[in-house]
Amino acid sequence: MAKVEVVKGDITKIEVDAVVNAANEQLAGGGGVDGAIHRAGGPAIMAECRKIGRCPTGESVITTAGHLPAKNVIHTVGPVWRGGKQGERELLTSCYHKSLQLALEHELYTIAFPNISTGVYGYPKREAADVAIQAVNHFVERNERIKKVLFVCFDDENYQIYKEKLENMTSE
Ligand code: ADP
Repeated sequence: MAKVEVVKGDITKIEVDAVVNAANEQLAGGGGVDGAIHRAGGPAIMAECRKIGRCPTGESVITTAGHLPAKNVIHTVGPVWRGGKQGERELLTSCYHKSLQLALEHELYTIAFPNISTGVYGYPKREAADVAIQAVNHFVERNERIKKVLFVCFDDENYQIYKEKLENMTSE
């Protein structure tokens, strides 16, 4: 089965087939990880985003990775946290599943995810980590071709949360 691991760092530097971007519905670029990916990858990524147009929350689209070491960027739109009763969990699960599905369709077998929705979209970090880990495990258990999934944590809080949760899983 695929390796599922956590690393701390900047997702724009990670050498994998696909890096996932936490985008907005307009695919317009923004702050956080989105800004970092467009800055490091260059204008080719935005040029393809403009052609695609928009992406609904919970869905994913794919573009070139420009100058990034990855082959492609998969843009997914996480839910804005509105208290937890507005379908946030299902939408966040969908982000992970749709992104992995798109990766498979494009023969991309090593994938790096940022901590979708845990920045300006305000999803509580522990809850988001539970959703992310569950969604990824569920998918890789059923799709043997995925080789590696990395959770790339930029902030120390997320890194500690993922480390703890993934360690608990492997010791079970
Ligand atoms: P969202 O709008 O989905 O909340 P943000 O970009 O605001 O997206 O935040 C998502 C996560 O991305 C946050 O946990 C933030 O710490 C992280 N992040 C910001 N810059 C980077 C980067 N260069 N590489 C990886 N993660 C990053």
